[in-house]
Order: sequence, then C-alpha cells, then structure tokens
Amino acid sequence: MAYSVLVVGGGLIGLSTAIGLREQGHQVTLIERAAAPSYTDQPELRVSALAQHSRQLLQHLQVWGQLPRERLGPYTGMEVWDHDSFGRIEFNAAEVNADDLGAIVENRVVETKLWERAQAVGVHLHPETAITELHQTETQVQVKTATGQSYQADYLIAADGVQSQIRQKVQAPLTFWDYEQRGMVAVIECEQPHGAVARQVFLPSGPVALLPLGNPNQVSLVWSCDEDQVGTYEALDDQAFANQLMRVSDSCLGTVKVVSKRASFPLRMHYAQRWLHDRVILIGDAAHSIHPLAGQGANLGFADVTAILKVFAEGEVTHRQLRQWERERKAAAVIMITAMEGFKRGFGTANPVAKVLRGLGLHAADRITPIKRMLTQVALGSSS
Ligand SMILES: Cc1cc2nc3c(=O)[nH]c(=O)nc-3n(C[C@H](O)[C@H](O)[C@H](O)COP(=O)(O)OP(=O)(O)OC[C@H]3O[C@@H](n4cnc5c(N)ncnc54)[C@H](O)[C@@H]3O)c2cc1C
Repeated sequence: MAYSVLVVGGGLIGLSTAIGLREQGHQVTLIERAAAPSYTDQPELRVSALAQHSRQLLQHLQVWGQLPRERLGPYTGMEVWDHDSFGRIEFNAAEVNADDLGAIVENRVVETKLWERAQAVGVHLHPETAITELHQTETQVQVKTATGQSYQADYLIAADGVQSQIRQKVQAPLTFWDYEQRGMVAVIECEQPHGAVARQVFLPSGPVALLPLGNPNQVSLVWSCDEDQVGTYEALDDQAFANQLMRVSDSCLGTVKVVSKRASFPLRMHYAQRWLHDRVILIGDAAHSIHPLAGQGANLGFADVTAILKVFAEGEVTHRQLRQWERERKAAAVIMITAMEGFKRGFGTANPVAKVLRGLGLHAADRITPIKRMLTQVALGSSS
C-alpha cells in the first residue's frame, strides 16, 4: 500500500528516511528549513563515526558508493586511554575478523549525496521552507509554511534535530539532561600520520577524540569540555589551543596545528517519552540525543530509519506496528544513553580510588579476550 509521507528535516536521518520510503513506492515530500546542502574542498567540522549497520543502510540507499573516497576515513584500530592513570585499551578490526571498525564521514558530504539521491528517486524537496502550523485529524496530518503553502499527508516523520519544532508542536514530554558541556570541534593537522586509528583520551572533564580523516595527516577533533572551561579554550589563539591539545592528548600524534575554524556545540542528553503522536513520528535526534563520547548519535538514528522502513515495507501500516517500532527503538536509545552516562561518570571524576579502579578496569579489559571482543563489537556499533 502506498502512503503519502511528509518528512520534516533534511539531515542524515530525514533524507535517508525519505529516500527509503520513496524507493518503497510511497509519495514523499521533504521540508528543510535551510538551503540544500553542499560542501567545499575543505574538510567539514561536523563528522560522524559510522558503524557497519549505518553504512549498510547507505549502501542499500545507493549513496555509500557516491561518497568521494578521499573524504572517507575508515579506521581499523581504536586506542582509548585515561590521561590520569595507566589504563589503556586498544581495539583492532582483525580481532573480530572485520575489515575496519567504522568510517569517519563528514556530515555535510553525506547530506549532499543523500540530497542528490533523494532528488533522483523523486522525493519532492522543499529547501528553505519553515513550518508555522501543524494540524492532525484521525486520518491526515497537515502543515502550513511561512509562505502560506500547505501540505497534507498520511504520516509526518519529524527528523528536525535536537531542537525539533515538531516535537514542541505535539508537546512531547522530554526526559532531559544537560551535561553542562560543549563539544569543541576543529580539523587538526598532525605531524605523525594517524594510521587509520581513532583515538580517544579521557580527562576528568570529558573525552577528547581524534578521528582519522581521509587525509592521512588530518584528524577531526571532538573535545568534550565543561561549559565553564570552554570560554578559556575559546579565548586561546590557534597555536596556544594546539599546545593545550598536545598536552591533554599526550602528544600522541606529534606536533599538531589547527587548520580550520574552531566551533563548539552544546552537549545534551534527551529522549522524548513518546515518539509516536497519532500520525506524527519522531526519529533521529528529534527523538533522542546522546553524549558524543561513543560517537553513536547518528548510528542510533540510522538504526531508527532501518526499522521504520521495515514497518512501511509491510503493506498496511498499523498503529500497533508503529508502537512496536517505538518500543524497540526507545529501548535501544535508553540502553545507549545509560551506557554513556556510566562512562561519563566513571571517567568524569578525579577521585584517586576511582582513577585506580578505572585504570585496572581498562588494563584488565585489554587483556581478557572475550571482554575485549565484546567491547570491540560495541565499538562496531552492533548494539545500536
Ligand atoms: C560534537 C558532536 C559530535 C558528534 N559525533 C558523532 C559521531 O562521531 N558519530 C555519531 O554517530 N554521531 C555523532 N554526533 C551526533 C550526530 O551528529 C547526530 O546524531 C546526527 O547528526 C543527527 O542527525 P539528524 O538528521 O537526526 O539531525 P540533524 O543533523 O540535526 O538534522 C536536522 C535537520 O532538520 C533541519 N530542521 C531543523 N528544524 C527544522 C524545521 N523546523 N523545519 C524544517 N527543517 C528543520 C535542520 O536544518 C537539519 O538539516 C555528534 C554530535 C555532536 C554535537
């Protein structure tokens, strides 16, 4: 059965949903507040570490093969260590018979290729369009835009990100946690090649991730930092910032240099208590957002997409199926949020006893093969 579906939000999650639904034969309209995505020769600041299942979805949507190889950073190793103790763990794709552990992608590059694919498969794309009103009846959902245009559909899928306006319009109650942190991001050039290894060092204030980009001497920095310290770092010039980065990352890549502008994003955890509001479905960051320390936000969103596409592939969509989708995906998000919270609390303390314990824990995990294999599977994102 073919439905009409309105997707609000043209980020990674909204665009993938729209393409998948269109390929199933549904009539799909996508509304995006910003202009159509594009990218330049310079590496973008916002990146995601994509797990295998996310890449499989992008392959299925015929987008993965369109991504320029030089803008992909597949990584075969991961190194995680504690700045304040002897704890260290290393993961390797070969240990789990995988080709790699994931791939770093630049969000804008993927969004641009998704947009092109959406256009090619016949999604009706409306960039630079703002929604002002939302109404639902038992059988239809209707939105009005700032320019007076109105759109009607059987379902509306809200993929409009962390600050989802649709979530606010349906008054979805939110479970919310402000980490009082910001993620500082920048592209960093390093003296030593990254060797296709994703590195993460835990400081008491949060993790610092150095994610390998397509260029063997460039990494993408995601430095989670308490809000009250961010101002101090932001006030530094690039050279002084690079010196601080070398200090906190134990100069693991030799001398480093900032080669992009620097930016920061607020880090918040939230999940909507209900993702299904009659004919409105919340998905991706609109439904959940988690700390980026394990790089799983987009992966969780892609897993939502894969699961919702299964529901729409099954002929008639029933409220029961959608509730089942909501239950399963919410459970996966809550498990991930709880795990991230545990990590953050475990590392986010300068207590000397905790320091010794986490050092011992990482040390032991690195040496006990089954535990390490299990952690590597988590790193691969098999639990999203
Ligand atoms: C610092 C940082 C690092 C991260 N690192 C990783 C990582 O390594 N791996 C990972 O998996 N995840 C990571 N994440 C999370 C990941 O970026 C998000 O989970 C993912 O981008 C969410 O995609 P989305 O499409 O749901 O939302 P978004 O990417 O936010 O897209 C929402 C879209 O909706 C549009 N929009 C918003 N409001 C409206 C409206 N009212 N009408 C129409 N359109 C609207 C926006 O313009 C945007 O295009 C990170 C996040 C941060 C902050």
